[in-house]
Formats: sequence, structure tokens, C-alpha cells
Amino acid sequence: MGFSRLLVVALLVWVVWSLWRRWRRAGARGDGQVQQAVRIVKCAQCGVYLPEGDARALRDASFECKSHDQTAR
Ligand SMILES: [Zn+2]
Repeated sequence: MGFSRLLVVALLVWVVWSLWRRWRRAGARGDGQVQQAVRIVKCAQCGVYLPEGDARALRDASFECKSHDQTAR
């Protein structure tokens, strides 16, 4: 009788452990999606926040709107 109870406890521990592993893997995938998300940068010229893809990188690691390209310089 004691052995069967031990078996049930071991099965329970295994189920919880496998569920926890699946949950952790799903959490890691979520973190990856966060890293792939669009970065928001601030324009050094007018202070507007915009996605990095729509901004232009400047030499001093700052960004500006692409529209400033045509006007100044
Ligand atoms: Zn701007």
C-alpha cells in the first residue's frame, strides 16, 4: 500500500514538472517576441517618438525623422 502511494506521488511530481517545463518554454518564446518587437526611438530634431524602422540613425547613436533628411543639411 505504501508503494502505490509513492507511485502516485511520483506520477504527480512528474506531471507538475512536465507542465512547468512546458510553461517555461512558452515563457521563453514570449521573451523572444518581446525582443523582436519594434523599438521606439526619439527624434533628436523635434523630439517625436517613432519606430526605429521609420527613423534615421545618426552618427552619435541618436535618431531623427526621415522627413528631416530633405529639409536641412
Ligand atoms: Zn523629427
